[in-house]
Amino acid sequence: MESTRRDGDTWDLASSVGATATMAAAARAIATREDRSLIDDPFAEPLVRAVGVDLLTRLATGEEAPGDLVGHVWIDLAKVRTKFYDEFFLDATNAGLTQAVILASGLDSRAYRLPWPAGTVVYELDQPQVVEFKTRALAELGATPTADRRVAAVDLRDDWPAALRTAGFDPARPTAWSAEGLLGYLPPEAQDRLLDTITELSAPGSRVATENRPNPRPGDEDTTKESLDRISEHWRAQNFDTDMTRLRYFGARNEAAPYLTDLGWTLTGTSIRDLLAANHLPPLEDDGMRMGDMRYVIGTLTNIGE
Ligand code: SAM
Repeated sequence: MESTRRDGDTWDLASSVGATATMAAAARAIATREDRSLIDDPFAEPLVRAVGVDLLTRLATGEEAPGDLVGHVWIDLAKVRTKFYDEFFLDATNAGLTQAVILASGLDSRAYRLPWPAGTVVYELDQPQVVEFKTRALAELGATPTADRRVAAVDLRDDWPAALRTAGFDPARPTAWSAEGLLGYLPPEAQDRLLDTITELSAPGSRVATENRPNPRPGDEDTTKESLDRISEHWRAQNFDTDMTRLRYFGARNEAAPYLTDLGWTLTGTSIRDLLAANHLPPLEDDGMRMGDMRYVIGTLTNIGE
């Protein structure tokens, strides 16, 4: 099956890759209702409502149970993933980093809900329609950023560093970067370029958090596609027209963690399997997509002289 993706494609939060940001926010809305000790994202539900995809709104508000649509694992993953990145940013900024960059920010509301230390600047990058929609929707909700929030509306396959600099980014200051839920939606060479560019823009002491999906073993990708097709069929049966399989890029690519190591980052990481266990959540069942093996990783660029 061919990807529906092409160079330079664009989207809003209801279509193509943009809809995956709304799905992620719907999962955070449900997860927030279930367990505020792991995740507390009060903006997730109103943002999903504002996007207006009926099924996702019904899920976010609790009118519809996730059930067969995705399985409860989707919600548990949102809990551990959100907690991981929340802690990453708070640890980094409490350790003195004053600049954070959220790549592919989607409907992420961290710039409005985390207790950032005074003086922190948070940059958010995503496609123009995504960034503009969220900024407007949160303003209409009366939300105010808890940091100095700046946005760069740009495609991450293009010259995003120029847009970031225009927004005020200072490469001389150590930065905390995140690329959450992004890499699989980039062509392999764009992923490498993104990680190269992050490294070039990182002063010593910078940190980066992202996901490392293990390279597929023979047959893995077919199983993943079948699972995503099944999920997409459920969504379509509920009048939400999406095709998750065709939004992602499959095939060989460099794994993010060893790639970052080769670029000079010192890495630590935890698998989803271990994160679920550490947070007393049920283990993954029938994990044909090998989600349990996916690792959330944090890289640090050593300070010169250490
Ligand atoms: N990080 C957010 C989260 O975890 O909720 C959003 C994740 S969502 C699964 C994927 C996001 O990546 C979307 O917001 C999408 O617009 C963004 N994205 C994917 N490819 C992109 C590109 N080439 N340029 C800009 N944004 C991109």
